[in-house]
Amino acid sequence: MKCAKCNKNGKRSHKQAGKIYCDKHYTEIIEKRIRKYLRINKKIDTKQEYNLKGPKEEKEILKKILENIFNKRLKITNKQTNNTISAQTADQEAEELINEFLQNTTQKETKDIKPFGHITEKELQILKKIYKITIKQRQTKKLDEIEEKYPGTKFSIIKTKEFLKNKK
Ligand SMILES: [Zn+2]
Repeated sequence: MKCAKCNKNGKRSHKQAGKIYCDKHYTEIIEKRIRKYLRINKKIDTKQEYNLKGPKEEKEILKKILENIFNKRLKITNKQTNNTISAQTADQEAEELINEFLQNTTQKETKDIKPFGHITEKELQILKKIYKITIKQRQTKKLDEIEEKYPGTKFSIIKTKEFLKNKK
């Protein structure tokens, strides 16, 4: 399949919003989304040190993407800091919200920066393949059950959250 951007036939192709992309351009599109989020929210200050939160492989991919975006100017440390960048994806955030709703609880809002907050679990899996990071897929079980019954639930939850945020 030919990439919509460079018109090259790649070994692998990835579908995104109805178009096909090669490894390079798929990564570019996802990185652009993360870049936009970080820029709009003015989240990261390169004078500060940051620690990463999440499973090992997720942190690895997060680090690679942040290095690309910040051209290695970002200081990442293994120490605990007040500046945490989390590898949480949109799916996991949606699942957390569902759990809160079902259990009628509220989690404390964290200050964590979530560059993957607009990235789905599926997109993250593709990035892992591109970056050759092998791990098993994280399951968001309860949400997957609901999604099966009511297709589109995951995105509805995220849309609702954004809507509520913008109303504030
Ligand atoms: Zn391409």
